[in-house]
Amino acid sequence: MSIDPVQQWPLGEGLDPNRLECRFEDAKPPYTPAEALVEANRCLHCFDAPCVRGCPTAIDIPKFIAQISSGNLRGAAKTIFRQNMLGASCARVCPVEEMCAGACVYHALNGQPIAIGRLQRYATDVALADERASGRRLFSPASANGRRVALVGAGPASLACAAHLALAGVSASIYERDGLPGGLNTTAVAPYKMRAESSLAEVEWLLSHGVELRTDTTVGTDIAWPELMATHDAVFIGVGLGQARSLELEGPGVWGATELIRAIKNEPGFELPGDVRRAVVVGGGNTAIDVARELAMLGIAEVTLAYRRSRADMSAYAHEWAGARQSGVRLQTRLQPCRTVHHRQRLVGVVFQDAVNGREVELPCELLVVAAGQSPWAALVDAGIRLNADGTVWTQPETRATSLAGVYAGGDCVNGGKEVVDAAADGRIAAHAMLEEWGACG
Ligand SMILES: Cc1cc2nc3c(=O)[nH]c(=O)nc-3n(C[C@H](O)[C@H](O)[C@H](O)COP(=O)(O)OP(=O)(O)OC[C@H]3O[C@@H](n4cnc5c(N)ncnc54)[C@H](O)[C@@H]3O)c2cc1C
Ligand code: SF4
Repeated sequence: MSIDPVQQWPLGEGLDPNRLECRFEDAKPPYTPAEALVEANRCLHCFDAPCVRGCPTAIDIPKFIAQISSGNLRGAAKTIFRQNMLGASCARVCPVEEMCAGACVYHALNGQPIAIGRLQRYATDVALADERASGRRLFSPASANGRRVALVGAGPASLACAAHLALAGVSASIYERDGLPGGLNTTAVAPYKMRAESSLAEVEWLLSHGVELRTDTTVGTDIAWPELMATHDAVFIGVGLGQARSLELEGPGVWGATELIRAIKNEPGFELPGDVRRAVVVGGGNTAIDVARELAMLGIAEVTLAYRRSRADMSAYAHEWAGARQSGVRLQTRLQPCRTVHHRQRLVGVVFQDAVNGREVELPCELLVVAAGQSPWAALVDAGIRLNADGTVWTQPETRATSLAGVYAGGDCVNGGKEVVDAAADGRIAAHAMLEEWGACG
């Protein structure tokens, strides 16, 4: 029996069931109770556990696994959420191979590392389903302490920060530019890891602790930064990254990676054009791998990943590339894109320069996807916030305080684009710093 508490949560009800992402199978399906117990019982409950050091939110992993073993799933979920209020989505989307499970001592014993993500998913899913069915809350917010915080953007960083603040009795209001909250968790994460309805279910749960959300509201346009700062005790900036880089490859049949992934995930009735047999994806990061794998899984016969340097230079995780290769994606390295080739307004190919011999090579394709990363938000300068040379927001490492008094920041806009768990960690650190500043730490 699969346990997924997310399907009926209200925010996700507005999503069209005919979204293309609904055709993807779950890559790591939920555990049955028996499977979870067997896996939990393998844990060695190591002293000074290396898996905990591998987790950016420092969840007490041996503790929550022991709680699963003893049947205390509510306790296990609380252990997880105390450190990471986005523990349910992180259980699905974290690259555990590079983090907690990558550090598990079983590697040294030549054994299979503990499936920490799947156990975390099991504990959080069961506990949230139980909370919904019984009305027995996992956490009760403290009574209001009169403090007000505005959070800009409803992605993982702001959501984590807002939830920790709300639990401490702070009035937290999130302002989100889009119609749907959740940030890239809702619009970008590969559907075989998590669909939009799961992200929205998590948002719904986080909001249920008393967090206010205003969607379709862009700070800087609909509300001025100074107004926000003047009317709140603190402001948290969790705006993520800005515009996708285009590499100046344009025209019919050419998509930006995040734009195409969003259409696959969120757009009602969206279909890939029927005449697409060959797709080329330009890039070597995790987003390029994700979109290439999604296209292959959707049945595009030939999907080629074209990267300008060598395989060793690709920033994508090895396990992500292995998954894409298994799905049928081919890799061509040392190809620098030059121009697209169109015939009668239809894309027929893309021309690259071969970095080895300088010659031009044409890869025939009907679909070209550019995954060249996103630029940081230059617009934050208007708010008077100090930026680093690469355009990310400068913050103090211990508190995530920015150069402006009372203004904090976290997530992709600070780290330049990492993982959901890093954004969740930043949100928690900033919330605790604000509470400490006000002497309101519980
Ligand atoms: C294709 C893709 C796949 C990914 N896959 C994974 C994965 O599998 N696992 C993983 O851990 N991470 C993954 N990530 C990374 C992860 O999604 C991000 O690290 C994380 O979402 C960052 O959270 P954030 O809150 O900083 O920003 P975001 O999630 O980008 O959220 C920022 C929010 O702020 C809003 N906003 C921006 N400006 C304003 C404004 N002026 N006013 C109001 N609102 C505003 C935006 O609309 C957005 O909703 C992926 C990223 C991409 C692009
Ligand atoms: S390192 Fe592996 S075995 Fe040890 S406590 Fe962590 S999950 Fe359990």
